[in-house]
Amino acid sequence: MSGDSKWIWSQQGAKLLRLVSHWGHRCLVGSLPNRCLLCHQSLNSTEAGFCQVCLQTGLYHSPICLGCGKSMQLELEYCGQCQKHQPRKVIAPCSYHQGFGPWIAAIKYQGQLAALPLLCQALVARVGQLEQQGLTTLPQAIVPVPLHPNRLRQRGFNQAWLIAHELSKQLSLPLISDGLVRLQDTRPQAGLNGAQRRRNLQDAFELNADFAYQRIALVDDVVTTGTTVAEIARLFEARYVHVQIWCLARAEAPGLLEAIDL
Ligand SMILES: [Zn+2]
Ligand SMILES: [Zn+2]
Repeated sequence: MSGDSKWIWSQQGAKLLRLVSHWGHRCLVGSLPNRCLLCHQSLNSTEAGFCQVCLQTGLYHSPICLGCGKSMQLELEYCGQCQKHQPRKVIAPCSYHQGFGPWIAAIKYQGQLAALPLLCQALVARVGQLEQQGLTTLPQAIVPVPLHPNRLRQRGFNQAWLIAHELSKQLSLPLISDGLVRLQDTRPQAGLNGAQRRRNLQDAFELNADFAYQRIALVDDVVTTGTTVAEIARLFEARYVHVQIWCLARAEAPGLLEAIDL
């Protein structure tokens, strides 16, 4: 990394951190114990939710390829490999394995929402940073990955909708959650290989409304191989809608990377 780009990145990183800590303090103070959700250290009066150290280590602190999620030396859209085929952009503030993973899993599996606004704010800050650098364009609307009605009844909520709702509030962008439906109650994707994942999701979604927007952000909690979001993105792209993917974290699963089909 050149001296200049290192400086720019560290400025951006510091700004991201300030934004997240400031917002977190404003929203979470009073609703959480005065301890870091990750390391349980006492928080000072300017911190809320997570301490500075956990934020610093938990969020991306180097440029990341918007295709495959690899860390890079320079702030570019894509790494050399992704540059050739320019995959859909996946925007996340951190890697699932960097520290916040358990809090993201807790949203989905335990309905524990303590970290949700703060992680959404980290994602918003990341999008703002990329937009400033000319590496992405803000979408016109936010669309959550839908849950099948059976699963929704079981779980009681769709975590992707909760995240999309929070993002739409923070960015003042419309949340569009009708029109895109999940037709099949597919089995969980975890544990399936690339081909099985694609087969599992074949014809699982339908876009049945006229869509008034040209650029959307499709939101999920975590993106691993991207098979689910790719399946939905194809439906939008067939109608000439540009899709970027937003998630709270990317989970790079060893052994599944060859199945990336974004
Ligand atoms: Zn901490
Ligand atoms: Zn890449």
